[in-house]
Amino acid sequence: MTHHQIIIVGGGNAGISVAAQLFRKNPKLDIAIIDPADKHYYQPAWTLVGGGAFDIAKTERTEASVMPKKAKWIKEAAESFNPEQNQVTTSGGTYSYDYMVVCPGIQLNWGAIKGLPETLGKNNVCSNYSFKTAPYTFEVLKNFKGGKAIFHNPHTPVKCGGAPHKIMYLAADYFRKHGVLDKADIHYWSGAGRLFAVDKYEKTLLEVCRKADIKLHMMERLDEIDGANKKLKFTGIGEGNKDKETWVDFDMVHITPPQSAPDFIQKSPLANAAGWIDTNINTLQHNKYANIFSLGDSAGLPISKTGAAIRKQAPVVVGNLLSLMENQPFEGEYTGYTSCPLVTGYGKLVLAEFDYQNNPMETFPFDQSKERWSMYQLKKQVLPRMYWSQILTGKA
Ligand SMILES: Cc1cc2nc3c(=O)[nH]c(=O)nc-3n(C[C@H](O)[C@H](O)[C@H](O)COP(=O)(O)OP(=O)(O)OC[C@H]3O[C@@H](n4cnc5c(N)ncnc54)[C@H](O)[C@@H]3O)c2cc1C
Repeated sequence: MTHHQIIIVGGGNAGISVAAQLFRKNPKLDIAIIDPADKHYYQPAWTLVGGGAFDIAKTERTEASVMPKKAKWIKEAAESFNPEQNQVTTSGGTYSYDYMVVCPGIQLNWGAIKGLPETLGKNNVCSNYSFKTAPYTFEVLKNFKGGKAIFHNPHTPVKCGGAPHKIMYLAADYFRKHGVLDKADIHYWSGAGRLFAVDKYEKTLLEVCRKADIKLHMMERLDEIDGANKKLKFTGIGEGNKDKETWVDFDMVHITPPQSAPDFIQKSPLANAAGWIDTNINTLQHNKYANIFSLGDSAGLPISKTGAAIRKQAPVVVGNLLSLMENQPFEGEYTGYTSCPLVTGYGKLVLAEFDYQNNPMETFPFDQSKERWSMYQLKKQVLPRMYWSQILTGKA
């Protein structure tokens, strides 16, 4: 059995950031990264891809090109954990470790909506939630000449809580610019109770909805789609609409798939009752196994799952892991910072930043709940470059 000092499970945004920062602190560390992927994606730009404002090719690089040179890449999928023995088993073998960081991302459950896998990518059924399907969203927007446009948000946690509705604001702006907004009947069907969790930003978004006459339907779960006949079946999950079934027609629909912790995490001893990795919300150490840490979308943290959150989590994991290795007390504390760059139109963005208590934690010395051109440029021009050159290399 091969042994490594540190094993990182998942070489996505979180795993590569942590490995790169650890090597910057100590180039002699023995770190192995387990990840079967050929490609690495900058997913936050897929919203702009769907709106025709970003080149999809710029969101993909090879996994080999982002792998830190000093890391040992185990190009296999992790399948199970034996944390009592400090072992992880993959599709290719079993490995032991002194310390482990587990961050394999979130699982997209496309098949949880009956009929979706068969119809996605045709029949005007689109989704920004994958590299393969995001470009089709813009095809659908371009071809839309009026009728019912539906934007869906599932009843589960999702990565980037804003992405299901950001594309709706872009679509409304696109329709406005191309003279079809007055022929568009736009609806948002959501499994959540409100549009956005933080009052300060939700206020602006509700105004954007009002201006485009977007109708909101809350606490509704999408169960089925009939792409050929352009129909969606929702079931009420709220107090007033529980179990009520509604069939809705559409001319176009943008779908966000239901999401969960990956199956192999859910059935592992690392999971909490909801299936996510059982993580201390401040130290990011596993609640049961002291030599395991977690961050990113698969960690059991009560926040909106974003790359921006990982930016604040990674230094805490790195600092606390190194402290543990040196028998020192933990110094790093994560307070739940997450951010959602809420694109509200072409050249317009509300930069939401907040903590575990939904208190705004803003970076700039102006009111970030206002739509701004400068913040749109931050998302479109600055953050993608920063991701590849600074974040994945452990510099930021
Ligand atoms: C449409 C969209 C819009 C978004 N917009 C924003 C935004 O504006 N701002 C923002 O900050 N964030 C945004 N995000 C969210 C952001 O992309 C994620 O939060 C971030 O990528 C999570 O990083 P992660 O490392 O946890 O998971 P990922 O980056 O998804 O990486 C997970 C890695 O784990 C690997 N893996 C999976 N299973 C296994 C296994 N069994 N064994 C080993 N490895 C495994 C995968 O191959 C992958 O490399 C958006 C996401 C989407 C889809």
